[in-house]
Amino acid sequence: MAKQDYYATLGVERGASAEDMKKAYRKLAMQYHPDRNPGDAKAEAKFKELNEAYDVLKDDQKRAAYDRFGHGAFENGGPGAAGAAGGFGFEGGLGDIFEQMFGAPRRGQERTQTGADLRASVEIDLVEAFAGLKTNVRVATRVSCDNCAGTGSADKNAGADTCGTCGGAGRVRAQQGFFLVERTCPTCGGSGRVVRNPCRVCAGAGTVPREKTLAVQIPAGVEDGTRIRLSGEGEAGGRGAAPGDLYVHVAVRPHAIFQRDGANIFCRVPLRMTQAAMGGEIEVPAIDGTGAKVKIPAGTQTGDQFRLRAKGFSVLRSAQRGDMYIQVAVETPQNLTRRQRELLEEFEKEAKGHATGSPEHEGFFAKVRDFFEGKT
Ligand SMILES: [Zn+2]
Ligand SMILES: [Zn+2]
Repeated sequence: MAKQDYYATLGVERGASAEDMKKAYRKLAMQYHPDRNPGDAKAEAKFKELNEAYDVLKDDQKRAAYDRFGHGAFENGGPGAAGAAGGFGFEGGLGDIFEQMFGAPRRGQERTQTGADLRASVEIDLVEAFAGLKTNVRVATRVSCDNCAGTGSADKNAGADTCGTCGGAGRVRAQQGFFLVERTCPTCGGSGRVVRNPCRVCAGAGTVPREKTLAVQIPAGVEDGTRIRLSGEGEAGGRGAAPGDLYVHVAVRPHAIFQRDGANIFCRVPLRMTQAAMGGEIEVPAIDGTGAKVKIPAGTQTGDQFRLRAKGFSVLRSAQRGDMYIQVAVETPQNLTRRQRELLEEFEKEAKGHATGSPEHEGFFAKVRDFFEGKT
């Protein structure tokens, strides 16, 4: 029986755009849908023709093969068999060699299309990273189609048929020059199954796109760049297959006063010159929201470090906590008042006769003297 031209079946011109074909297909598919024409064999046949025609024409590769070779492109041994939508023309000796080389796709085995993994990002600050938090992420995903209960079929009990192009293998082989190449079956997208009477809502995919909001528990102590896997929260699988996973990437914003290094926290604290010289007690903040008192001994220098035990981050999967390090920077006073200047002049007079007051300073200039006198 001669088949009608696919373009004629859809009622479009040969050069019709993908959008026009989609419109034409939708309109006719609604008209001839078996749900609307119960018991009408003609309508059913027409509906099948429509699906077959659209299945080919919506796919750029298959459409190109059809434009070149006509229906022959999709028949076994047809010229198109070596092209985009090849049938099984190489079952003989070469096929065996191919199978030895690459492993054979097992025929008849149902392949399912596991849902795609998704990625989402969350940005938190260091205090949130310390305490952990529960937050929501929004992801554009695919969920199981309610209309067909994820089967992809308009008739929930019909399920899917074995794909005619690949015989259920999900892969097709074609000859390119000397080589047999194997590729994903263009008809069934690798699943090995096709839905004859596709669900109107999901067009046979079994899934529909949707924005989803998911609660994510970010564990206390999480580090910048951590990837949290939410098993099964990716896209729904096609026609009842397993869903993918959702990976949440956690970025931790730099903090204004705390720097993290593993479980330890560093905090740079500027001290007034007089505080550093005379010593005293300073109050510093800790990442857990508490304050801590640090005793600064007299004569503290820039770069001196003080450790506060167990004031750092939690060590993951343990009750331990890292430490916090206070790193001191002595600040030279600026914009002196008149009185400050008088006092410092007084201070300087006193300092000149006091060699152990600034040992590094004295030591350095002693070396400078030696240098000019040629001793070193
Ligand atoms: Zn559906
Ligand atoms: Zn197939």
